[in-house]
Amino acid sequence: MSKIQIGILAVQGDVTENFLATMASMSELGIDGTVVQVKTIEQISELDGLIIPGGESTVIGQMSLVNGGLKKIKEKIESGMPVFGICAGMIFLSKNSKDKVVGKVEQPLLDVLDVKIERNSFGRQKDSFEANISMDPVGISSFNGVFIRAPSVSETGSDVEILAKFNEKIVAVKQGNILATAFHPELTRDISLHKSFVKLVDNLN
Ligand code: GLN
Repeated sequence: MSKIQIGILAVQGDVTENFLATMASMSELGIDGTVVQVKTIEQISELDGLIIPGGESTVIGQMSLVNGGLKKIKEKIESGMPVFGICAGMIFLSKNSKDKVVGKVEQPLLDVLDVKIERNSFGRQKDSFEANISMDPVGISSFNGVFIRAPSVSETGSDVEILAKFNEKIVAVKQGNILATAFHPELTRDISLHKSFVKLVDNLN
């Protein structure tokens, strides 16, 4: 089996935390691979998997437009590369997003995840919270979800599997090779979700 390479989109946001959680996941799983911070468009074609970290989705979107990065990432995902979008990353993957506080905002989206997103669904920064989440479809019965200006999924297409809800709102989904959470697994010590993503990448290689 070839060595896998997982990239962390290093435009803005929680890059280092995701880098470390992915490295730890590979090592715990005994998988031979590398983790790279993706800063140039050339790196994208080398990847077997990509994590899009939390941060600010409008900034990540705008910066990804530079040199056609967005298009390249979209093509890779459409050709089957596994991707894990976290919070702002989940928004960036979506087809459609609207801000609960300010309404429709024009922002570049990858348009690969068939969901509608409500940004800032739980309120502003001061309304950030932690909650216990269960994600039974991926075999994780309890996970400490860290929600920071988190979105939620308000509508799902027919190919989208709902992995978790909190207070009736959808906070984790999977659609084929696309995994997305509204909360931040990289900000906890629990690497189980990163491990399931690494396994997904490894299984396809
Ligand atoms: N509210 C942010 C956005 O809309 C996401 C916040 C986060 O990634 N923690 O991009």
